[in-house]
Amino acid sequence: MTMYHISVDAGRCQGHARCLAFAPDVFDFDDEGYAFVPDDKSDRADLDEDLRLAVANCPERAIIVSEVSHAGS
Ligand code: SF4
Repeated sequence: MTMYHISVDAGRCQGHARCLAFAPDVFDFDDEGYAFVPDDKSDRADLDEDLRLAVANCPERAIIVSEVSHAGS
């Protein structure tokens, strides 16, 4: 089974908040105005349209989507 792990590269994020505009249920912001994905939102069974749009519209390409395969069990 494949899951998706979503994260924000803190070294790239410039805090435009475009991700938040597209997918407010996925992204949150720290005290310095940079995006992050809370732990309980970071592992997902699929990528919904809001999240795809957020990834596509991040000007810094800071949103990282990695596929995580859970072998066995
Ligand atoms: S759109 Fe990209 S650069 Fe802007 S806050 Fe979101 S993750 Fe950071």
